[in-house]
Amino acid sequence: MACLSGSKNLKDLSKEELSALVREYGEPSYRAGQIYRWLFARGVDTIDSMTDLPQQMRERLKKEGFHLKLPETVATERSNDGTIKVVLRLLDGSLVESVLIPDERRLTLCVSTQTGCNLGCRFCKTASFKRCRNLSLSELVAQVEIARKLKQKEPALRQYHRITNIVIMGMGEPLNNLDEVLRFIKVLTDPSAMGYSPRRITLSTAGIIPALKTLLKSTRINLAISLNATDERTRTFLMPVNRRYPMKKLLRILRYSPLLKRRSLTIEYVLIRDVNDSKEDARRLAEILRGVRCKVNLIALNPFEGCPFSPPDEASVERFRNILEGCGLTVLVRKSRGRDILAACGQLGARMDKTS
Ligand code: SF4
Repeated sequence: MACLSGSKNLKDLSKEELSALVREYGEPSYRAGQIYRWLFARGVDTIDSMTDLPQQMRERLKKEGFHLKLPETVATERSNDGTIKVVLRLLDGSLVESVLIPDERRLTLCVSTQTGCNLGCRFCKTASFKRCRNLSLSELVAQVEIARKLKQKEPALRQYHRITNIVIMGMGEPLNNLDEVLRFIKVLTDPSAMGYSPRRITLSTAGIIPALKTLLKSTRINLAISLNATDERTRTFLMPVNRRYPMKKLLRILRYSPLLKRRSLTIEYVLIRDVNDSKEDARRLAEILRGVRCKVNLIALNPFEGCPFSPPDEASVERFRNILEGCGLTVLVRKSRGRDILAACGQLGARMDKTS
C-alpha cells in the first residue's frame, strides 16, 4: 500500500488494495467496487459521503486514520490568455503546481508528478527545486479533482463539459515516479473510475529508458519526448540525463519499438537562441528523426528569473520550422500559454520561491 508522508489517504489505495482492505474488514467483496467508484468516479472528499457503506465500516475507516483530505489551494492565478495556474500545498507542506489550459474545443489539465525535479535541465525553473519527492496516487488524483471543482466555479470554463485532456507534463520527471504514475493512468483510463480514453492522455519525458520501456508495455497513452538538441554534446549540456540515457539509444527505441504504433508521438524541442536554433540544427533534427513516426512541437524558450538563456526571435523560429517542413516533417509551433503567470513550459515552480 502506498503510504507517503505518513498519510493514510484512502485514495492511495488501488482497486486490489481496496479489495484486500474489505476482506480484512470481513465485508462482502462488492464493497471494494463501491468504495472505488465513490473515490475515483464520483470524487468524494469525505468518508461519510460514501452513503451506501454501512455506518460501522465508515466509522472503522476513520478510526484507523483513513481520510480523503485534499491539498490546500494556496494560489489561483489567471493569465490574460485564459490559462489558470493552481498552487497546491500538500499535507506535508510541499508545494506543487497544476495548470488548466482552455482552447477552442479542449480543456487540458497539466499535472505535476514530483515536488521539484532532480534532472537539472538548464532551461527549466523546476530543476532548481532539487529536494523533490514523488507524488502519491492521491496527490495526483487530487490535482484532477481540484481542477474539476475550479472548472465548476470559473464562468469562463463553464462552456466545457469536462476536462477533456490530461497532460502529465508539469513539475517533475514522471518516469522517475513510475509506479504511482502507472497507478494514476489506470485510474484515469478505467471506465469505472475517471474513464478517459488513453488517446486523451499524454506523458512527457526526458527519456528514462528502462521506465519508458515499462510504460510502453503497460499503457496505450500518447508520448512526448523532450529532445531539445540534435547532437549528444549539446543535449548533455542542456539535459544532463543524456549522459546516462543517450539520445542515440532513445531514438532507436522511438524508431523501432512496435509498441509505438497506433499512438501519437511528439518530439518536443525548446528553441534556445544560439544554442540549438541554427539552420544546421534544423537540418540535423530532420536527419536524426528520419524513420521516427512523429510530429515536432517547437516552442521558444520561456525565460524565468536567473535563466542563463534567451529565446530566439520569431524569424529564427519560422526559419527552423520551414527547414523541418521542407524535409517532410509535421511541425507545430506551440504558442506559450500562461507566460504572464509563469505557468508556461519550463516555468513551473517560479512562483513558489515567493509562495513558500
Ligand atoms: S524539463 Fe522536465 S525533466 Fe527537465 S528539469 Fe524540468 S521538470 Fe525536470
